[in-house]
Amino acid sequence: MSTHSPHSTPDSFNEAPLSVNPRAEDAAQSVFIALGSNEGDSTSHLVQARLFLQDISSSPIRASRVYQTEPIGPSDNDFLNAVIRISWNSNPEALLNRLKEQERIQGRPSRYPKWTSRTLDLDIIDFGGLILNNDRLQLPHPAAAERLFVLLPLHDLAPEWYDPVTKKAISELIKKAPEMRIEVGAWQWE
Ligand code: AMP
Repeated sequence: MSTHSPHSTPDSFNEAPLSVNPRAEDAAQSVFIALGSNEGDSTSHLVQARLFLQDISSSPIRASRVYQTEPIGPSDNDFLNAVIRISWNSNPEALLNRLKEQERIQGRPSRYPKWTSRTLDLDIIDFGGLILNNDRLQLPHPAAAERLFVLLPLHDLAPEWYDPVTKKAISELIKKAPEMRIEVGAWQWE
């Protein structure tokens, strides 16, 4: 005779827990990563970062144009900014760890003041539309929707993109973003 009450859980359910977030663990996710550099040889840093992103992506990457932008904060040097789309097979935290490691490899100290110059900054802008908010990671990136140096290169790659939280279209966000000096860079990917 069965010992299961009508409310007990069949053993097979206990053995195979369902993923609470299948999007983050199953098929590869389309992920947009913002790149920024304003210290050292910024073009070399972008090229090196692009090779790294191709290396970790499970399909060919796509890159926006490179933009030259005014620095925010006390720094004197203009930034070079771009956005690259990769395919990522694991979870967002594993990706963040790889990006932070690459920033260190490319010369960025692990502790730094908020608005300091930087050899390389890699931010996850959008992870397949996932919304996440924990101590280490906010998705989509909380400042992306207000920064022209993210929105314009993102628009190069995904003019149909919208903010998964506010549902605002990227073209609308671009119109409302604070003005800043930004132009398509004299230097572009070879
Ligand atoms: P940053 O100064 O831009 O390198 O960011 C510093 C910290 O922001 C990182 O160490 C992350 O823990 C955190 N962070 C939160 N959300 C994100 C995101 N979407 N992409 C990258 N870093 C993030």
